[in-house]
Amino acid sequence: MDLKQFVILGLGRFGSSLARTLYSLGHDVLAVDENEDIIQDISDSVTHAVQADATDENSLRALGLRNFDVAVVAIGSSIQASILVTLIVKELGVKYVVAKAQSELHAKVLYKIGADRVVFPERDMGVRLAHNLVSSNVLDFIELAPDYSIVEIASLPEWEGKTLKELDMRVKYGINIMAIKRDEEINISPRADEVIQDNDILVVIGSNEDLTRLENLH
Ligand code: ATP
Repeated sequence: MDLKQFVILGLGRFGSSLARTLYSLGHDVLAVDENEDIIQDISDSVTHAVQADATDENSLRALGLRNFDVAVVAIGSSIQASILVTLIVKELGVKYVVAKAQSELHAKVLYKIGADRVVFPERDMGVRLAHNLVSSNVLDFIELAPDYSIVEIASLPEWEGKTLKELDMRVKYGINIMAIKRDEEINISPRADEVIQDNDILVVIGSNEDLTRLENLH
């Protein structure tokens, strides 16, 4: 794994969970928040925790931000602060900047000023949970584009013992099986003669319309 240097600006529920996880995965994490108590709280769970106003360009420059590979602007409720901070980290030269948005318009502005990726944690989690709840066999759901997604789906009993060629999902459902998860292992780009087994999890890609037909089989 490539070890990277991350700076997380804003340590609300999203930012702090992200910072702690990246650090536990072995990466260097600088956590920045204006709230001293939050900084105290997280200081043992990241590489460095610094109390600073992220909208202050000089403070960020002094922290050596331009040397970081990835910056995540995890300030959601103040659109103004989120925009300012995104602009500053981009101008300081951080290569990849991810920003959290609270609306489509907010996201549009973030992209315009140079964010490389914009995330909507609450909206995305809502979509994923909804798919998981309406179809008990859908384990996860990732939106790729507005109309296309990747879904992890538990195999149906009637699929077991059949090869991918026999199931012919590309023709029958218009979807592609990208990978099969079996006993904690993952087989990427499985062959046509791969036989589906009990407890297999299929990772499939397709249009939302076709994926919905597949989900409704369960
Ligand atoms: P959550 O991730 O909990 O949903 P949120 O999107 O509602 O959070 P906020 O609560 O507005 O976001 O802010 C997240 C954190 O960012 C807070 O801990 C806050 O102290 C910090 N923060 C807000 N503005 C700044 C700033 N200018 N500089 C540094 N930290 C800031």
